[in-house]
Amino acid sequence: MYFKKVERFENLEMSYISDFSGAYISRNNKILNELELNSLTQFILEKAVYGTSIFKLGNCGNKILLLSGIHGNELAPQIANVLLLNDLIGKDLNHTVYFIPFACPKSSMNNERTFNSKDLNRSAHINNSLSNLIVRCIENLDIDFVGDFHSTAHNSNPGCESIFSSKCPTPESFLIANYISKDVGSKMIYFNYAGSSYKGAMEDVCNLKGIPAVTCEVLCPFGNVTSQAIRKSFYQMKSFLSYFGI
Ligand SMILES: [Zn+2]
Repeated sequence: MYFKKVERFENLEMSYISDFSGAYISRNNKILNELELNSLTQFILEKAVYGTSIFKLGNCGNKILLLSGIHGNELAPQIANVLLLNDLIGKDLNHTVYFIPFACPKSSMNNERTFNSKDLNRSAHINNSLSNLIVRCIENLDIDFVGDFHSTAHNSNPGCESIFSSKCPTPESFLIANYISKDVGSKMIYFNYAGSSYKGAMEDVCNLKGIPAVTCEVLCPFGNVTSQAIRKSFYQMKSFLSYFGI
């Protein structure tokens, strides 16, 4: 269910992926406190009220997606994504960059990992799940590369700043992860075949469809933020873009 209707803010284009996941993200103070409420950020938050939105900057080269909020209580990457969108708007880009800062606004508002008790990073292969709609949007838009940004806490899995990738069937996933790892110092965690240890992760489902994808993790307590985690997630995103010369 990807809605082609486009709304604009300056040179930024926005359209909806779903109309059942919307919420008032500003009710989550942990997120709100970290955002400067300029007109662009307000535009992003207003759109989130009605569903999951995707934003687009640029019109040439490769199509590259920065995704965050697949786990609603992993706040640092969602904030970093909004900051990066603020950073890149108005710049002349040599590629097309898509942003989904809040994959599931309802989970972000509630500071919850799951959406309707479903883990979106274990259900991207299930027809019509919210993460499956995001995958289908990626296919509809012919997006070439996907970076999915998360955070992890001590004593959880993986529990360290890291980049996940796989070598098969989409070897460029591994190359991108290796580049980011060398660039920002995050640990490499890779699998020989995508989706071999569990099913339905965004990254794996994309790689299995031949769309190179990586998952980037920073260390941050769940449901909370640290400025260091926001900064690190921001650097991972910048590094992902710099692999393509952005
Ligand atoms: Zn996560």
